[in-house]
Amino acid sequence: MSDRAYYVTTPIYYINSVPHIGHAYTSIAADVLARYARTRGQAFLLTGTDEHGQKVANAAAEAGVSPQAWTDRMAATWQSLCRRYEISYDDFIRTTEERHQSVCVEVFERLKVSGDIYVGKYEGWYCTYDETFWLESKLVDGRCPECRRDVQWLSEDNWFFALSRYRDRLLEHYRTHPDFVRPQRAYNEMLATLEGGLDDLCISRTNLDWGVPLPGGGVMYVWLDALLNYITAIGWSRDEERFRRYWPADVHLIGKEIARFHTIIWPAVLWALGLPEPKSIFAHGWLTIEGEKISKSRGNVFDPFATADFFGADTVRYFLLREAPFGADFSWSDEKVRQRRNSDLGNDLGNLLRRSLTMLQRYRDGIVPPVAGASFGERFGDLGERTAGRIVELDFRGALAEIWELVSALNRAIDEQKPWRLYEQGAQHELDALLYTLCEGLRWLGHLLAPFIPAKAAEIHQQLGVGDELGRNWNEALRWGDLTAGQQTRGGEPLFPRLLD
Ligand SMILES: [Zn+2]
Repeated sequence: MSDRAYYVTTPIYYINSVPHIGHAYTSIAADVLARYARTRGQAFLLTGTDEHGQKVANAAAEAGVSPQAWTDRMAATWQSLCRRYEISYDDFIRTTEERHQSVCVEVFERLKVSGDIYVGKYEGWYCTYDETFWLESKLVDGRCPECRRDVQWLSEDNWFFALSRYRDRLLEHYRTHPDFVRPQRAYNEMLATLEGGLDDLCISRTNLDWGVPLPGGGVMYVWLDALLNYITAIGWSRDEERFRRYWPADVHLIGKEIARFHTIIWPAVLWALGLPEPKSIFAHGWLTIEGEKISKSRGNVFDPFATADFFGADTVRYFLLREAPFGADFSWSDEKVRQRRNSDLGNDLGNLLRRSLTMLQRYRDGIVPPVAGASFGERFGDLGERTAGRIVELDFRGALAEIWELVSALNRAIDEQKPWRLYEQGAQHELDALLYTLCEGLRWLGHLLAPFIPAKAAEIHQQLGVGDELGRNWNEALRWGDLTAGQQTRGGEPLFPRLLD
């Protein structure tokens, strides 16, 4: 038995502002992977907050508090967002923590020794507010094209990472590992970037205080500091045994706007440190609101806490993963969420549970009848494997579609076999077979849906009276006929009460 753990990460979230629903989206996807992986062995889900840089310092100044006070407050908000959406993280790293900063300094020292960083001239038109250098040609009326503030000519000595040195190795890696970056569109874009050539990367800042202080002055460039979280959190250079259990990461989940940092700069930094690259990086699409990209300035950043309060965290989780393929852009609309909630979750799943347990109560005093009839077991015998295959491919929508085939088949069995008629006709064996099939199918649905809608999956098992079996091994739990006859079911409240317009 290997002690390797499945290691999945979210980006660490930049806390110059409050979270929106797009942040919850990435974390939910990572959570599905981790919850599934835990049914097969060990898993480790890492998330956290990216707390350095000029924009965080600006946000703190505007709020009239110190950067540390600001980040403390914001990190707490992000942690409560995770709790609200049932994100089962194993660690939450903050880049202002000592355990992170001290390792960043060590990375810097090692890169100095290996000769992968050097001192060079860093110059250009600089916007202090956005912490960005601009080409003369990009300026708008001589001002920053982003915030329209004044820019200044800056020329300073800084540390550079010799990224260009790794271009050939990156190209080779892309050619030999076509799954390194997914989906295909992101892979193609990053490959084109590589083919276009790479500049070395400036990795220090001398005109900024709010960052990891470097020996000899200045702070580390916030992006390098941020990327390093993936190895500082799991004990690189501090606890080698622990580190080897997790690294290389199985998958980094990211938004496509930060693909260049993760798929080009990050593997090169790891190689410079003598470490293997992550196994894969998946850049998901953008979530838009009624067709518009989420942005603070457009005023369409809605509060993910209020959204969870209104629809329920499980409904939001289901909608986000069911509505579109994980790699694609798609649009949030309250109306579409309401439809998914009322049809898929309410009518299909919720009513299946309610109808099944009501009939079981009426005809068999709520007690699971003897095992009879194997047709569903034969038909859906490989459903667990098929669903698992989709999950590890990050095809969450496909996984849910597979699961819904079972939901539909069970509902159809009720409609076609009409248990009330079987009861009137005294067809006891047929009625037992149908009721058992419904209960066993629901037990399966609890397991299959646990990674996606954990609280409701647990509720299904509670109502079935098998409340303690969710931690079971995926393959062992998904054996048809495992539900014990004589089990007393409990019933309960509707799983997804109808949401009115
Ligand atoms: Zn600016």
